[in-house]
Amino acid sequence: MSDITLGIIGSGQLGSLLCQAAKKLKVKTIVISDDEQGPAQNYADGFIFSKYDNKDKIKEFVSKVDIVTYEFENIPIEILKQINKEKKVLPKPDINQVVQNRKLEKTFVNDLGIKTTDWAFIKSAGDVKKNEKLLPGILKTNTLGYDGHGQFVLNSVADIKKDWRFTADYILEKKVDLKKEISVVIARFSNGETYIYEPIENVHKDQILKHSKIPADISSKMFKEAQSNTKLIAEKLGYIGVMCVEYFIDQNDNLLINEIAPRVHNSGHLTINAFSVSQFSAHIIAVCDLKMKPMKKISDAEMTNILGNEIGKFKNKSFKDNEFFFDYKKKEIKDKRKMGHLTILKS
Ligand code: ADP
Ligand code: MG
Repeated sequence: MSDITLGIIGSGQLGSLLCQAAKKLKVKTIVISDDEQGPAQNYADGFIFSKYDNKDKIKEFVSKVDIVTYEFENIPIEILKQINKEKKVLPKPDINQVVQNRKLEKTFVNDLGIKTTDWAFIKSAGDVKKNEKLLPGILKTNTLGYDGHGQFVLNSVADIKKDWRFTADYILEKKVDLKKEISVVIARFSNGETYIYEPIENVHKDQILKHSKIPADISSKMFKEAQSNTKLIAEKLGYIGVMCVEYFIDQNDNLLINEIAPRVHNSGHLTINAFSVSQFSAHIIAVCDLKMKPMKKISDAEMTNILGNEIGKFKNKSFKDNEFFFDYKKKEIKDKRKMGHLTILKS
């Protein structure tokens, strides 16, 4: 047993898969979550149910761990900074502050000379009118979005409903005529070394990831550009851990950054079976500063997310040797909720 205890904020499937990877690396895990039923408690060595602003519970959590990481980015930044004063939080809270805020994130990316969708910061209906050139577009809440939550399609200025009060900050993004979506998962270790997984091709349905596959059907130029942009971002951020960059490819073969996830990512689930070291293990190795392992691809692969009721038909199914079914063991089935995934190795 290594004598490290890793604290993980969040208890969903990403937290569960991080705990399972940690166990194999002999790292103990304590999960804190505001979801009493969070499935990661099935795999963690300790579980604290708490709101993220409960000072006493956070104190208890901090006292039990050596290092802290998180499975999702929408954690109040003050909490991460407060924890970081006592125990190291990785990825660094400063990084989280940038990438959980679409305006700061896009500004950071554009300042590196990397293209995003065309966008504008929006505080009112008047701001949308001023940016009519971005329509048809998507209005997204500036913070706290996930799986398409907080997104509204605007085809014309007339789509702004009279009762919309613009209580939050938004950004308006031009709708991209998508040829493809890809993502690049990168692990960056404390010695500055990186491993960049090959680009993953993703298909979304109703703004939720449905399928991911490697190899992505893209040119070698696009492959290299996506990897080098991702590396540049990780290096500029001084990132330690696993990070994912989501990209759009438009009909004119422009590679645009959609968003950066400062964490392990759904599209990277296929790395569990298709690589010698998964994104989850790589993240644990990086944040706990463990000895690095040789990282290489083992197989082509395809991953399918299992949403809502679809989980029923997988539970009693038998699978071939190249098929790997993951049941997230969520207590409640909800429409479009990520309940599990299936990875099929292709070679
Ligand atoms: P989330 O934070 O919920 O993941 P994203 O901004 O990544 O939100 O959007 C989810 C999905 O919605 C994208 O992967 C893409 O399929 C679609 N989408 C989002 N923004 C645009 C856009 N500007 N043009 C075209 N499709 C978009
Ligand atoms: Mg996204």
